[in-house]
Amino acid sequence: MLCSSRHTVCYTRRNSFTRLGVDMTWWQRIFGGNKPSSVREQHLYVQCQRCRTVLAVRIDLYNDVSAEYDDASGQEHYILRKDIVDARCFQRMHAEIHYDQYRREQKRSLQGGTFLDAATYQQLVADADSR
Ligand SMILES: [Zn+2]
Repeated sequence: MLCSSRHTVCYTRRNSFTRLGVDMTWWQRIFGGNKPSSVREQHLYVQCQRCRTVLAVRIDLYNDVSAEYDDASGQEHYILRKDIVDARCFQRMHAEIHYDQYRREQKRSLQGGTFLDAATYQQLVADADSR
């Protein structure tokens, strides 16, 4: 009897978690969908300029960027500042990407490495695997 009631609690709890997940998605669709940029994730592909190791870094455009207020235009914009370290030479690369108020990328820079496009990154990874 005790055992079955415990299971009921467990089951109910799991259901409420599921419902919360659905509600979050619904909420994000309503409020996130109104923004011009509904893309939340961005992938950066970088190559260390010292050891040539390539890396893919996932960026969360809502959690990883910091908002900055521009006094001149009165608008908010976003900046990502991220340190990236490869697993071979451990040299620190520093990425800085500027976004407008809709989180659309404006410019990017990388110290200690170079940005790659997705196709180049995938090609280099494939080459490294086949070696
Ligand atoms: Zn390196």
